[in-house]
Amino acid sequence: MTPPSAAALQTLKSAAGTGGWTDDPAEIAPWLTEWRNRWQGHTPLMLTPRSTEEAARLVAICAEHRVAITPQGGDTGLVGGQIPYGEVLLSTRKLRAIRDVTPLDDAMTVEAGVTLLEAQQAAAAADRLFPLSLAAEGTATIGGVVSTNAGGTAVIRYGVMRDLVLGLEAVLPDGQIFHGLKRLRKDNTGYDLKQLLIGAEGTLGVVTAATVKLFPVMRSRATAMVGLETPAAAIDLLARAKAETGGGVEAFELMKRIGMGFVLANIPDTPEPLDSTPPWYVLIELVSGEPGAADAAMERLLTHAFETGLITDAAISQNDAQRAAFWKVREEQSAAQKPEGGGWKHDVSVPVSRIADFLEEATTAVERFHPGARVSAFGHVGDGNMHYDVLCPLGGDLPAFLARWAEGSQIVHDIVARYDGSISAEHGLGRLKTEEARRYKSPLEIAAMQGIRAAFDPNRIMNPGVLF
Ligand SMILES: Cc1cc2nc3c(=O)[nH]c(=O)nc-3n(C[C@H](O)[C@H](O)[C@H](O)COP(=O)(O)OP(=O)(O)OC[C@H]3O[C@@H](n4cnc5c(N)ncnc54)[C@H](O)[C@@H]3O)c2cc1C
Repeated sequence: MTPPSAAALQTLKSAAGTGGWTDDPAEIAPWLTEWRNRWQGHTPLMLTPRSTEEAARLVAICAEHRVAITPQGGDTGLVGGQIPYGEVLLSTRKLRAIRDVTPLDDAMTVEAGVTLLEAQQAAAAADRLFPLSLAAEGTATIGGVVSTNAGGTAVIRYGVMRDLVLGLEAVLPDGQIFHGLKRLRKDNTGYDLKQLLIGAEGTLGVVTAATVKLFPVMRSRATAMVGLETPAAAIDLLARAKAETGGGVEAFELMKRIGMGFVLANIPDTPEPLDSTPPWYVLIELVSGEPGAADAAMERLLTHAFETGLITDAAISQNDAQRAAFWKVREEQSAAQKPEGGGWKHDVSVPVSRIADFLEEATTAVERFHPGARVSAFGHVGDGNMHYDVLCPLGGDLPAFLARWAEGSQIVHDIVARYDGSISAEHGLGRLKTEEARRYKSPLEIAAMQGIRAAFDPNRIMNPGVLF
């Protein structure tokens, strides 16, 4: 796409008005890179509309002048889709209203720039639960979690964003507003346009507001850290936990000892979570609507698992501080890798029943390809989703190791594909994985996606560097 003309940029600035745009490099700079410092973008202009109507006017001008747009929310995305490379950056951060919370509908409508944490808090204030939860929730926005179809830690019980959105409002690539903020559980009236926008990574329009599902607040919650010998034991434990609690498992997160070691060494205030140092850990959270019932269920589950040799160690959290400490060692798994020198990151999923075999096969293949490489697999194993990260051997040549990323990833992704899995379980494709995904999507799927995109955005002005 050619860079926007000076006339188009001037028209956008006039329409955005004072406070609605900036081209000051210092002001824009923080929004041109991201958490992992992997991407360093550039843009001639950042737009910050304060209402859906303002956003629609700006997108209409972009459409008229064929100016490409990169939408951005909290800039916590992990695949670079929110970073502009010459496109105008349209930030939704100023769309801040919580429009309504309607407990009788178990629904809430929030604008795109509301953070995930603020949305959770608004639901809690009405004695309801908005269950999407992830480590970046203080910064990630509703527009971003919709556009990446985010998952997080409670998917096993409540699903991903696709399962949690009842309605959407969005500015389409020609500047028209799609008014789809319904709060219906049932609406069989043809194609579901909101589902196309969910997970579209900013390629089909700018999401300006979403109506999301709310749930009852659980009256009891029990959290435990468990030690096990193998991932296969974790999958057995998961099956038992689901069967015994009738759907009461809210989180089930697997971690490997090596990753736990990185956290203990590199993140302050993180004590060993167990007395022993097992090869694998699981953080389990059980919930129940009945006071005290989750604690009793956890006690039963772990006692039986211990007696039958399924687990080797366990600690049930006794208070909020201990629960937070358990979650901290899980949530810091990724950050704790940074001082180790970075690595090849993978966000993959396979059917839950095949996780153990996948981990074994992938690790054997990676170790053969790059002897000494350190595999730190962790993640939402209850959803079959692992963050399968491969770090440079201790004392190894980091630049040479990183130069083998693409080749090493292909080995991992080919195994994922053979296990009928996905090379992007929850982060999306963005700039990082779009090309790689072409290897695994069928020509039919790619052509269908291109057709949908062309119908919404014939001039491909929305996030042109992302998806097919
Ligand atoms: C520490 C950490 C932990 C994480 N854990 C998880 C996890 O457990 N599960 C998970 O799924 N993700 C996780 N993520 C990834 C990230 O938080 C999610 O991708 C999140 O959904 C991004 O939201 P955001 O507002 O920051 O979006 P951004 O990063 O700003 O944008 C992400 C994508 O969405 C598009 N976009 C953003 N807003 C809009 C909008 N209003 N309209 C149209 N397109 C838009 C962008 O163009 C881009 O393609 C994690 C990230 C970090 C840093």
